[in-house]
Amino acid sequence: MIPITKPWMGEAEAEAARRVILSGWTSQGPEVAAFESEFAAYVGAPYACAVSNCTTALHLALLAAGVGPGDEVITVSHSFIATANSIRYCGGTPVFVDIEPETYNIDPMLIETAITEHTRGILCVHQLGMPCNLEQIVAIASRHNLFVIEDAACAAGSEVLWNGQWERIGKSHADAACFSFHPRKVISTGEGGMITTQHADWDRALRLLRQHAMSVPDTVRHVSSKVVFESYPTIGYNYRMTDIQAAVGREQLKRLPEIVRQRRELATRYGKLLQGIEGLKLPLEPKWARTNWQSYCVELPTGCDQREMMQELLDAGVSTRRGVMCSHRERTYAASAQDSLLMRSQHAQDRCILLPIYPRMRATEQERVTFALRDATRRTASLSQDGISHRCKAPSNDVLRA
Ligand SMILES: *Cc1c(COP(=O)(O)O)cnc(C)c1O
Repeated sequence: MIPITKPWMGEAEAEAARRVILSGWTSQGPEVAAFESEFAAYVGAPYACAVSNCTTALHLALLAAGVGPGDEVITVSHSFIATANSIRYCGGTPVFVDIEPETYNIDPMLIETAITEHTRGILCVHQLGMPCNLEQIVAIASRHNLFVIEDAACAAGSEVLWNGQWERIGKSHADAACFSFHPRKVISTGEGGMITTQHADWDRALRLLRQHAMSVPDTVRHVSSKVVFESYPTIGYNYRMTDIQAAVGREQLKRLPEIVRQRRELATRYGKLLQGIEGLKLPLEPKWARTNWQSYCVELPTGCDQREMMQELLDAGVSTRRGVMCSHRERTYAASAQDSLLMRSQHAQDRCILLPIYPRMRATEQERVTFALRDATRRTASLSQDGISHRCKAPSNDVLRA
């Protein structure tokens, strides 16, 4: 069976966890601080704050931006549900706009049409690791005095063209960027998140909020020779990362350049292998983006049923996932969006599948994926011509892609 992904962890990570466990300090402490400064240095950001996962990272970043009840935040429906949920946690309202058909990322042209007097900011997503058009989004935001927070959950190691230079996502091109270290992403700490920002006051707020808004942290009290009493001036949260996780993260960060290098090599090979499959739409890297290829997303040939294709592949020993979900199709967001304005998002969810890609994936495994995909495409197509199966439906119109 070829899995959809496989985290790359080994002795170094196990040894790091062991070291912390035996040190006597396992909660947020020196390892978290070291992971933060190493991550900040890697992406080129002035500040990085570690938290328990990317969902809590998004929540805190939006709080730091001042989002509250009555505020609207422009984002995509076409994302993992945590993106929209984080806005709701603050009492805000996500306002969904559609995606670009080629990159599956927010269409900057649609942002201005969604701005109202209640709009406070933009929560853009670098979906599947592919950078969205940040330069354009930040320019629109500054014209309208809006904040920009990047959901960079999948985008550690991705790069964006910024003033003509290639820079890593998280260098804080916008106000803040939020990363995930869930095993499905490019590097993992089991669960974990990071917020990078260019604002000293945001970083201060994030550090308070992740730890109950405690005025004097336990790490400071621990080393103090005087008795110290802390206070809790506002409502905070327990969104801390543990030192065990951070120690694992530091080792993962050392592997990240090699992980990204390998993923790029695998994506290039997929591009060559898959180009022969008729009607299959391969992922496109726009001129402003160098993705880390967290996922390799293909759009199925017109008419081939997604579920049938995925089942055929599973039967052939190849695990896949369907295209990114649409939040507005879930009950909690159904009332907040019009299907007709999110046609490309729905199209991407229904017509795309994600193929296996992970470091140390072998060329022979990629060939097996390609063979299984070509085979499944042919079989579904020929079955449909014979009239035996109704798996392939009439071609859907290409207006969606226009
Ligand atoms: C995975 C993911 C999240 C949530 O990350 P967690 O660390 O699991 O909380 C948020 N947004 C996007 C786009 C994601 O892919």
